[in-house]
Amino acid sequence: MNTFKSVFENYDWNTIQNKIYLTTEKEVKNSLVKTKKSLDDFLIFISPAAKPFLEEMAQTSHLLTKKRFGKIIQMYAPMYLSNECQNICTYCGFSLDNKIRRKTLTEEEIFIEITELKKAGFDTILLVTGEASHKVNIDYFLKAVTQIKEHFSSILVEVQPLSTEEYQQLHSTGVHSVMIYQETYHREVYKEYHPKGKKSNFDFRLETPDRIGEAGIHKIGLGVLLGLEDWRTDSFFNALHIDYLQKKYWKSNYSVSFPRLRPAEGIIEPNFIMEDSDLLQLICAYRLWNEDLEISISTRENEKFRDNIIPLGVTSMSAGSKTNPGGYIVDVESLEQFETSDERSAQTIAKIISEKGYQPIWKNWDKSYTI
Ligand code: SF4
Repeated sequence: MNTFKSVFENYDWNTIQNKIYLTTEKEVKNSLVKTKKSLDDFLIFISPAAKPFLEEMAQTSHLLTKKRFGKIIQMYAPMYLSNECQNICTYCGFSLDNKIRRKTLTEEEIFIEITELKKAGFDTILLVTGEASHKVNIDYFLKAVTQIKEHFSSILVEVQPLSTEEYQQLHSTGVHSVMIYQETYHREVYKEYHPKGKKSNFDFRLETPDRIGEAGIHKIGLGVLLGLEDWRTDSFFNALHIDYLQKKYWKSNYSVSFPRLRPAEGIIEPNFIMEDSDLLQLICAYRLWNEDLEISISTRENEKFRDNIIPLGVTSMSAGSKTNPGGYIVDVESLEQFETSDERSAQTIAKIISEKGYQPIWKNWDKSYTI
């Protein structure tokens, strides 16, 4: 099967990085007035040269988002099912070499957690696990999804890369969206962050969205871990990946997330600092380039940033998140994957969204459309 790898191999990290950093003010002005923006324009919008045009970019991003999506923000909550992991990732609290108490939720514990999330108002849930296929595998996922789909109209998953057949099984069982993050597209340093386990196979991860697309999953979510490598270059490759997928698997929808490296037990400091204004620039660049892209902001971000970003391009937000298995009620003391920054409740976030003139959406999909 022809995959994104064949496209990716035509690009070189240093060449793209130089192109981004050598962008001129004139190029930014030219790109801003184009009616149809290309990936070349996206590269220009994320450049340092575009920074002085941030206000203009934010206004356009606001208008484009309102035109395509209306004034809505989809609400969702992550639910961590397991912190078991067979990989070593130098930036993650669940890394195999981190001596923490490991936990995988049982059916009863899942029920307790989802009851709590339903009480908070959620109808869209993101199921997250580490990568431990001896315990948390396709059989576990199918059982969990079968149990959970009775209570939520939309199920998203962020689990280890699977085969096309396994994604098809998830799809037919009720999974609506699959998130998979390459972390960094810098092939040469990828191995340094992922020294052990299946995740150290750069190509297998790179080709995962193709398998998700082949399986006909409704929505595919991509992203890079911002802070590992130069965020501008990594984001160009992430957009290149989305561009390829959108053209090939055109029946699926696409979303992008912006995990910024956050503190966690035993992890590295970010190599590259990304300021709030950089993240705003990146969100606006995605919107200016791609009007259909769903844009998600998690509770990794601070309260002020999250409040201000509501009208500027995002379409979904998590709220009141716990990043440890059982974190909502079953086992509040277990180790989290990373520290959240915005700890306000879902209802508080919904109120803030309303005060900004936007509508918090708890349900925008019905499972009867899924199969
Ligand atoms: S990032 Fe994912 S694969 Fe890596 S250690 Fe954490 S949970 Fe495991």
